[in-house]
Amino acid sequence: MLDTSTHKLIIDCGMFQGSKELNQWNEQDFAFDPQDISAVVLTHAHIDHSGLVPKLCKEGFKGRIFATHSTVDLCSIMLPDSGHIQEAEAEWYNRKRRRRGRALMKPLYTKEDARRCLSQFKGIPYDKITEVVPGVTVRMRDAGHILGSAIVEMWVSQPNGNAIKLVFSGDLGSKKQAIVKDPTFIDEADYIFIESTYGDRLHEERVDRGEILGGIVRTIQKQGGNIIIPSFSVGRTQEIIYELSELLHKGKIQPLPVFIDSPLAVEATRVFRRNQEVFDEESQQYLQAGMDPLSFPGLQFVETVEESQRLNRVISGSIIISSSGMCEAGRIKHHLKHHLWRPKSHIVFVGYQAQGTLGRRIIDGAKRVRIFGEDIKIAAQIHNIEGFSAHADRDGLLEWLSGFVRKPKKVFIVHGEEAVSLKFAEIIGESLGLDTYVPRRFETIIFDDAAEMTTLPQEETEHLPLPDALETALAALSKASLEIQEHVKQQALSPVQKQEVLERLAACIEALDQSVQDCEI
Ligand SMILES: [Zn+2]
Repeated sequence: MLDTSTHKLIIDCGMFQGSKELNQWNEQDFAFDPQDISAVVLTHAHIDHSGLVPKLCKEGFKGRIFATHSTVDLCSIMLPDSGHIQEAEAEWYNRKRRRRGRALMKPLYTKEDARRCLSQFKGIPYDKITEVVPGVTVRMRDAGHILGSAIVEMWVSQPNGNAIKLVFSGDLGSKKQAIVKDPTFIDEADYIFIESTYGDRLHEERVDRGEILGGIVRTIQKQGGNIIIPSFSVGRTQEIIYELSELLHKGKIQPLPVFIDSPLAVEATRVFRRNQEVFDEESQQYLQAGMDPLSFPGLQFVETVEESQRLNRVISGSIIISSSGMCEAGRIKHHLKHHLWRPKSHIVFVGYQAQGTLGRRIIDGAKRVRIFGEDIKIAAQIHNIEGFSAHADRDGLLEWLSGFVRKPKKVFIVHGEEAVSLKFAEIIGESLGLDTYVPRRFETIIFDDAAEMTTLPQEETEHLPLPDALETALAALSKASLEIQEHVKQQALSPVQKQEVLERLAACIEALDQSVQDCEI
């Protein structure tokens, strides 16, 4: 949030995604009153950047939401979809809660809430300076991350007549990514806020990823089995369609059925087709040659649940691309349930898997996973093609930073796992000699008239010992947990007995979890 003393505005308003703890942050009150906010500037449509906009509007935000035209277009399908997911999740929990006579949960926001907030969106073009609130202007530059993604250049007028220039990288794309352009280099800034998702890692080369995908396709065409690709519906799915289309055109794979099993992906592909003017040069050449880079024979869009269920009967020779990308929700869970146990299946991850997600557990080599309450053995072949990432890797981020001709006063490292951000800060210091800062959550930074910064000291979170009785009870619980593990190791249980044990444990954990959640001062 940026407070100019006359106006407050927010740059991105994303939903926390990943572990249960992160998800709970979405339920917390905003650190400000939404009614006090004058405007929102969105870098792009991904839910971790736009997903709390409906909540913000529902809680009283009345201003404009500025974003590129393509981002507005994408948000108009992604936010209602997110509302739908919120409703479905609340309903899932409420089924259990009703049985137990517990108070019902409300969705974070509904599909209708999301639809309502769309009227506050205001599309702005790339590369033109636009005033978002009096005294603050922005210019959106292509970030090459997903369709419509932008780096935000922002000029904030100071009382002395000078302007301080802030640059928000948003998520930066990786170079040579299909469909979208390369990230734009920016000449100067007083302060840069850069993402750090892959700040400590390098991707595989893009040539390899087409090769790897092609190789897996050839394997199933020889040996049987399906390929399951968990994929974000927007951006990544279109990129894979593009990649498969290229492999087919070059004769590297034989035609095969490819199912896009996600209503959102189907709609998103339509949005992409409507926004071809922002495609990169390579895609433009395809279009000019009369080819559609987002279509090929065999490509089928699956919209209804019945059609999706029918795919369970297809056990060989096809590719199923479905969401969610981290396997936490959506139709992909059904496909994983039907394919993970088959040795001939290939599960191909093509995107970032956050800690604590089902996708991450599979990549990390879990032998079994639970899906819809069922214990599934993993016999399928697991692949992780990082080269598909829509994020710049360490060198990509450094290259973008090195494009600044005038050295910034400070580079803020944001939007990454803490350890990665800290590591990336070190790397920037060593390789580019720039001053860096990794802000903490809720930290306040003040920029003065001379555009110099100071940080407001934060209250240190004191580490207090737990009350004695609680400490004793927790120790007893750890002991009981060990005893239970010993018992089940020594004695085989019938499936019914096993189910009973699991349910009783789940009830215990849920009750404990709830009481601890409620006890904060
Ligand atoms: Zn993103």
